[in-house]
Amino acid sequence: MGAICDVLVVGAGPGGGSAALHAARLGLDVIVIEDHKEIGTPVHCGECISDIALSNLDLNLPDQVISKRVHGIRVIFPDGTQKRLTEHGYVLEKHLFEQWLVEQSVDLGARLFLGHKLKSMERIEENGKFMGHYCEGKGDNFPINAKIVIDASGVTGVCSKILELNQRPKVIAGMQYEMLQVPTDDYLDFYIWPQYAEKGYLWMIPKSDGRANVGLVTENKSRIVKELDRFIEDTDEFRDLEIVNPNWKDDGRKISGFGGAIPISGPHETTHSDGILLIGDAAGFTSPLFEGGSHLALKSAQFAAITAADAILKDDVTANSLAKYSERWKSEFPPYHKILRGKSALYSLSDQDMSVMGRCFPDEMSDMGISGKAMVAIRLLVRRPSLYFRRIIPAMLAFGYSRAKYYGW
Ligand SMILES: Cc1cc2nc3c(=O)[nH]c(=O)nc-3n(C[C@H](O)[C@H](O)[C@H](O)COP(=O)(O)OP(=O)(O)OC[C@H]3O[C@@H](n4cnc5c(N)ncnc54)[C@H](O)[C@@H]3O)c2cc1C
Repeated sequence: MGAICDVLVVGAGPGGGSAALHAARLGLDVIVIEDHKEIGTPVHCGECISDIALSNLDLNLPDQVISKRVHGIRVIFPDGTQKRLTEHGYVLEKHLFEQWLVEQSVDLGARLFLGHKLKSMERIEENGKFMGHYCEGKGDNFPINAKIVIDASGVTGVCSKILELNQRPKVIAGMQYEMLQVPTDDYLDFYIWPQYAEKGYLWMIPKSDGRANVGLVTENKSRIVKELDRFIEDTDEFRDLEIVNPNWKDDGRKISGFGGAIPISGPHETTHSDGILLIGDAAGFTSPLFEGGSHLALKSAQFAAITAADAILKDDVTANSLAKYSERWKSEFPPYHKILRGKSALYSLSDQDMSVMGRCFPDEMSDMGISGKAMVAIRLLVRRPSLYFRRIIPAMLAFGYSRAKYYGW
């Protein structure tokens, strides 16, 4: 017979957890399925989240999901020039955060089926009226009939695949090690060092007890391990430190990095369809410069839940009725293609030009108002006019849009 629900959430990452929580808060009958046997592992995230993201989503973190309080981001340019972007936030124990999100939805009545993988979907129609989807897959509780399916399956984008809604996105690869006794002043260190991370960057994200995630994203997937090892070997702060397995995989396995793929083609063309809403990475929502996606996943989930509740109340779950979802995220999220232009402009610069640009920024970039930006432009014009004209302004814009208030983290 299987199960019936208003909303089937596919995937229990930050997007799925937030969708389930917000839908349950709105009184919907929710089922969440997760392919893995446990929520949140393997971790595929640097694990940081800003205060702005948390207040935007009305989330009060319990102590057990917090690893460390942090002051913001420090950007380190190729010549070692350092500039801060102070805005407070947390480094999480991300798997515990994701488990906590879903548990809250379960407390409100959502049903959670672990070890359940969506594999196929068929339209349900009654007298020509679209009523939802009949979903099949691996797991005892299939089939599941859902009026609306929220696809939170991450970069897999399972509904886009099954229903052929969108082309596969371009992706960038990310991986990191957990290291011990890493020195920190509680900033997230982002190294824009293209010699190791092609069209990407490297990071040191500090955690509790001296631990840190040290990793990179790069378009050069085949060399990802080699380049991270080389970066560690070449960098005084990390060279002699111990690499361990994080506690969620500390079961005698060989020590190794962990990570995953991040979509970088931008929002998908189609983010809603009959009985379907795509959120988070499954919708292509990642911040272009530093590729953070948790804030966007959490927020798009809230938009999806509100849209689903309205549609179910109106007894109309067609694409027409769900179009409000795409309107909502489009009016809220920053202009992806503009920022992407800035990222391309940044990576078209030589290491030396990037460093000149970095030196022209004020030491603290968070309070760079109009006069601050004008000052940077003047310094650039004086030091390297050719740089200014080589689209440095879009590159600066990309940094600006990487801030928490623009869903950067
Ligand atoms: C190395 C790395 C570092 C990162 N660092 C950061 C960072 O510091 N801050 C930040 O904001 N973002 C970061 N990101 C990006 C961030 O991890 C993602 O944007 C975010 O996890 C997206 O959330 P999501 O819920 O959309 O998808 P996911 O977190 O990917 O969750 C999708 C879930 O769906 C499940 N699933 C997939 N297919 C199916 C199926 N058919 N049936 C059932 N379940 C399914 C998966 O098992 C998974 O649990 C990083 C990414 C990587 C790879």
